[in-house]
Amino acid sequence: MDARLPVRAFFTDRYGGVSAKPFDQLNLAEHVGDDPSAVAANRKVVEERAGGTVVFMRPQHGTKVAVLGDDYLDGREPPEADALITTVPGLALATLAADCVPLLIHDGLSGAVAAVHIGREGLRRGIVDTAVAALIDLRRGWRHEEMITASIGPAICGHCYEVSGELRAGVTKFHPTAAATTSWGSPALDLPGAVAERLAELGMTNVFRHRYCTFEDSNLFSYRRDKVTGRQAGVVLCEART
Ligand SMILES: [Zn+2]
Repeated sequence: MDARLPVRAFFTDRYGGVSAKPFDQLNLAEHVGDDPSAVAANRKVVEERAGGTVVFMRPQHGTKVAVLGDDYLDGREPPEADALITTVPGLALATLAADCVPLLIHDGLSGAVAAVHIGREGLRRGIVDTAVAALIDLRRGWRHEEMITASIGPAICGHCYEVSGELRAGVTKFHPTAAATTSWGSPALDLPGAVAERLAELGMTNVFRHRYCTFEDSNLFSYRRDKVTGRQAGVVLCEART
C-alpha cells in the first residue's frame, strides 16, 4: 500500500512472495525461522518495487539511530538500530514489523528519508524523538518542521494490544495518549495513536496514518495473533533532490 510520501514509499502486506506457511507469503525477516532463500527472493521483489538498493533494518527495540552513507549502496547489512536515515540517492530503507509501528519519514528540506521501528519499549524510551532529532540534525540548524512528511503504517491497534495495567502505566507516564482499553475491556496501549500524537507535538503537520490493524487483518503478519509468523516492511527510497 502506498505510504503517500513525496518520494517512492510503500508498506507491504503478506502477499506477492514465495515463503511457505506460516511465513506465507512475503516474509522479509531473516530471524523468524523462515527459509533464508525464500527471504532473499522476497527481498528481491521488494527491491524491484523500491527502485534502489534496499537496506533492511535490524531492530533492537531501543532508540539507536544509524545514518547510512553511500557505502551501503552495495547492500551490506546495517548496524543494529531502530531508526535508519540516509541522504544517499538510490538507497532505500526498510523497517520490519508485525504489530509494532512502521514509520516512514521524508524531509523536503534536506532530501533525507528515515525508516523507524516503534514498539512499546522504543516508544517509552523516546525513539520517535531521537529519530526526528537526527533528521533535523542533518539540516544544520534549519527548522521548518512542516516540510517533513511522515507515514504511519499498519500496526496493532489500541482495541487489540492488551498489556498489564503496570505496563500500560509505564508507557502512558510519558505518552498519555497511548492509554487504551481492549474491545473486551482490559488495559491496552494504542501505539500508532501515540506515535501520531508525538509527531504532532514535535511540529509535524503532514502525517498520514494507515488505519489497518495487523491483529485484526489476516492480510498482514501479526506476532500477537500467530506467534510464529513473518514480518512486513515499510520502505522509503531516497531520491535525488530536484
Ligand atoms: Zn485492532
